Parts: sequence; structure tokens; C-alpha cells
Amino acid sequence: MSERPCHVAILIVGFHNSKDVLNCLCALALATPKPSFDIFICENGGKEAFQELNNVLTTAHGPCNIHSGHQALPRFSAGGKFAEVKCLSLKGRATSVWVARATENLGYAGAINVWLNRLQTIADWDGLWILNPDTEPYPDALANLVDRAITCNKGMISSTIVPEGLSDFVHNRALRWKKVSGSTEAIGFQTSLRAPCDSNAVEAIMDSPSGASMYVTRECVEHIGPMDDRFFLYFEDVDWGIRAKKFGLGYASQSIVPHKGGTTIGKLSASRKIRSELAVYLESRNRILFCKKHFKWYCASVSVASVAYAFLYLFAGSPRNFKIAIEGFLAAWSGEAGPPPDSYDGHLRAIFFNIPTALYRKTKLAISLAHYCGQVVWRAALSILGRPPLPHLTILYYHGVQNSLRFEFARQMNSLAATANVIPADFEGTLPSDKINVSITFDDAFASVVENALPELACHSLHSTIFVPVRVVGREPNWVVDDQSSTFQQVVMTTEQLKALSPTLVAIGSHGLLHTHLSEESKSQAEDEIRRSRKELQDIVEREVNLFAFPYGDYSQHLIGLCKSAGYSHVFTTDAANVQTTSFVRGRIKVEPSDSQIEFFLKIRGAYNWGAIKRKMLRVKR
Ligand SMILES: [Zn+2]
Repeated sequence: MSERPCHVAILIVGFHNSKDVLNCLCALALATPKPSFDIFICENGGKEAFQELNNVLTTAHGPCNIHSGHQALPRFSAGGKFAEVKCLSLKGRATSVWVARATENLGYAGAINVWLNRLQTIADWDGLWILNPDTEPYPDALANLVDRAITCNKGMISSTIVPEGLSDFVHNRALRWKKVSGSTEAIGFQTSLRAPCDSNAVEAIMDSPSGASMYVTRECVEHIGPMDDRFFLYFEDVDWGIRAKKFGLGYASQSIVPHKGGTTIGKLSASRKIRSELAVYLESRNRILFCKKHFKWYCASVSVASVAYAFLYLFAGSPRNFKIAIEGFLAAWSGEAGPPPDSYDGHLRAIFFNIPTALYRKTKLAISLAHYCGQVVWRAALSILGRPPLPHLTILYYHGVQNSLRFEFARQMNSLAATANVIPADFEGTLPSDKINVSITFDDAFASVVENALPELACHSLHSTIFVPVRVVGREPNWVVDDQSSTFQQVVMTTEQLKALSPTLVAIGSHGLLHTHLSEESKSQAEDEIRRSRKELQDIVEREVNLFAFPYGDYSQHLIGLCKSAGYSHVFTTDAANVQTTSFVRGRIKVEPSDSQIEFFLKIRGAYNWGAIKRKMLRVKR
């Protein structure tokens, strides 16, 4: 924390609940003068809801003034996922209130992330306070959160949530995840607000603040990245909390936040029957998604518990909600994530359709596992014979790393940092033999790599190489992106982003001009793609470019010759192989942030390189 006064950005997501937002802002208007703050609201409910919200906030008795000319000019404007942005101010305070209208319902995490993305370009905030709109925090709630973050050096802080109107009892002090049953426990549920509470004891067992009030320091946000928008609604808070654990979770007992929803989030209640279908569906689906992400070993018990929870709807007299809960459960197992579908039906069918793909992947995994075991035995035998095998290099290639998979990517980098020597993909010379040797590369130079991958690599000072389709810089890809990350809109990095890449940690290579199949091009066109892309890329990034990766891994001996004569020092294919550092042509293995831990373990050890044996055999036959 710096010495200058702390400034906080308060983030609120609205959805057709202008009255709640109004009450929340009225409460915030009474907050203690320090720390200072600005408020950022995203209305997910469309044009009319946005209009209504603005009207309610700016009536004569409302908490806001329409932004008047004497204040600083608006820094945020419409564009991207915001259709409209208005700037208001909180009466009697130097607080700006930015109200944005989302182009569509982005979900809770999605809406937070859009503001977060915008705020990242601004230097004047030290922490974020994520508040539910149906809260009315006490005047010193924020001051206490900030105080706990600073004095105890914590990254993410929880408030004391009390049910609205019943302020003598606590709803929760923080949340704790119960791994076996797949449910959250509200720590301190129904304890007295006046009874003494040991904050350290809460901090020792908490897994996350409640999403109703989470304070996150800027440093922590920069380390853990944005919220996971695959959850859309429900569980994104616990997910963020668990990810923030290594930066310290804190609890500020004196930060008291009355919460309307707090009365209904409780355990069993009559509300089961009247719960909205969306809530039933997403809660059931996301429980499994969350478990698959963080506690894979507990998936079986959580699945059993999920079906049991579904039956509770039946017992509460709602067969409809029972069916929807089951569909949500099946949806998670069919691989669904993100916004809910238009219809809640048909997930069982989707699971059956997915079986062939899943089987194919599992078969590959089984072969690789067998291959790995064979390798281990073979190496041991060679060592016993006094001829230890030569170390080799395994080169990985990724495409983009989307927001929602940042956590998984970070986990992969942690394991690389711990178990491998990560060296540049064009390394020449003698490889160390103390650990496995791995290089990291990214094809297509997507902006998501700058946003989500490079910060994680920088944490461990890991080197990587990025291959740029030179004439697509700053634009959407003009080719079909056929990997799992294709479901989100990718853009290629801009010239500025490429120039800003650290020369010591990131090497830049060419990926052709327009990302075409080079073997299908005429001789002169292919030559252009190879030669000109090098020249143009050198002009863009103002450094020497010596590496080339074939788009789609499409290459031939002729194309390799062209690359040699164009002056490249090494070229990269997509044929998985154990690379020797004397070779000009280097094979790579495809990895995805969504690869399971066992798949990643095997890939970085070259166990998936049995494809090379298959290719060799085919060549012999020919
Ligand atoms: Zn590519």
C-alpha cells in the first residue's frame, strides 16, 4: 500500500432492481469521509431498466446529481460490452457514480469483469469493493475493510453480513466450502452481533468472503485476474475467494453490511418452492463446475449430494424445480458453462453426444500413460547399463488463454516452475539434465495472452515465444480458430501490445502474413508469406525476428528450405516430438489451459510424443 490516501472503486451489478441500488447508494452517501471512493454500476437488465435506474437515482430526493460541467470530464464512454455510460455524482461528496448499460445480460461475473477491464487502465484506485445492490452498508463498513487489508496485509476481505431489519444476528462472517457435500457454510450463522468475535479464527477457516460484500486490493486483483464468467451467476464469489487465498483472506468484523438477500440464502426454507428457475438451474450446474475446477477428487460425493438437493425441491412440492435442478446437474456434466441456454432441456442427449469425444481423449491419455511408463523403464534400463539417455526439449504450444481459464493456466505454470527448466524455444547447446526441459510458445498472438498468460509467466520469470500472423495485427482472426478456446471472441494483439513485450522474457516469431495453408499457396505466394512476414514483423516490433511457426502446422521440405533461405534460425511445426537442440525444425505439442492435471503432467514429459513414432512408421511404409 502506498502512503497516499486510499481510494476505492465500488462495483455494483444491477438487474431490474433500481430501488435496491437507490437504497444502497443512499447508505454509501453516509459513509465516513475516508477512504474516498467512486461508484461503478453495470445495469444488466436492458434499456428500460437503465432508464429507470437513472431516473430513480437523480430525483430531487435521490442520492445523485446529474454530472455537472465543473467536474472532470467523463473518462469512460460507451463501446465494447457497454451500450451506454452515464456519469452522475453522489450528493454532498466528491464521488463520481458511473452507470453503464450492458449490451446484453452479461451475468454477474461478466458485468464485474467489464468494469474491471476498464479500471485496469486507471491508476487512481487501490482496492475494489464488490457490493450486492440489495445491501445497505454501515457508514464505517468500507473504512474497516480497508483497515483490515492494510494492517493485516490481506488481499481479500469479508464483512459481517447481517439480515436486513434483524441486525442483532449475523447471517455470515465469511464462507467456508464443504468439499464433500459441495455446499457453502455461512461462518457465524445466527450468532449474536454483539458477542465478541475472533477475526483471526474466522480467517483461519474461511474460503471466501460472501459475494454480498468483498473488498479486494489492487495487488490481489492483478495477481488473481478477473472473475470466472463461466459461472454467469452463483459461485463466482467463492471461486474468486479460493483463488485469492494465497494472497491472504481477511475478515473485518466491524464492517457491517445488512443484506436483503441474506434472509433467503439460508439453508432449507419454504422459498425452495418459489425459487426462480434460473436460480435453481445455475446453482445446480455451477456446484459441479466449481467442484470440477477446484476439488476434482470430490466430484463423486458432490454429484450424489446434488441429486439429493434436487429431491429437496420435490419434497418442497415443486416437481418443476426438481426437474430443472437435475437438468442443471446434467448440463455441468455435458460441458455447459457461461450463460444459461434458452431451454433447460436436452442435457442427457448432449452427454451421449459427447461420449465419442470424451472416449477419444481418454484413449489418447491411456496410450500416453502407457508410453510414459515404458519411457521410465527404458530410461532406467539405459542408466543401469551406464548409458543414460540424452536430455531432450519438449515445446508446448498454446493459443489464447481466456479470462475464465486463467486459474487453470496459472496452475500449469506453477507446476512448470516447480518441476521443469523452462528455456527459450530456440535454445541451442547442451540441455541441463537435472529436470525436464520445456519451452512455452503461443500461436496467433492473441490479446488474451497479454491479459491472462504473460502476468502468470512473469510471476515465475518464465520465458515464452509468441508467433504473430503479421497482417492480422490488431484485428479479429480471418481464419477459423478450431480449438476449445474458440467459443470466445479473440483478437490479435495490437502493434503497441507487441512492442511492449519484454525482450528478455518474450521472443517474437512470425506466423506468416495472413495465416494461410502454405502448402496450398503458389510458390511465390508461399515465399512472400515466409520472407515478407519476417521483414514486416521486424519493422513492427523493432527487433530481429528469427523464428517461424507454420500456420496449421502445414509444412513440407520445400517450405522448410524457403524458411532457411529467408534467414530464419529455427522453424516450428505442430508434430509432437522430443526435440534435440541441434535441429532446425522443431516439433511442438498442443496444450490447452483446460487440460487436466494428468494430461499436462504427461504432455510436458513428452509422453504424448508417441505420434512421432506413428509418423516415422508411416514414412518407412511409404
Ligand atoms: Zn495459428
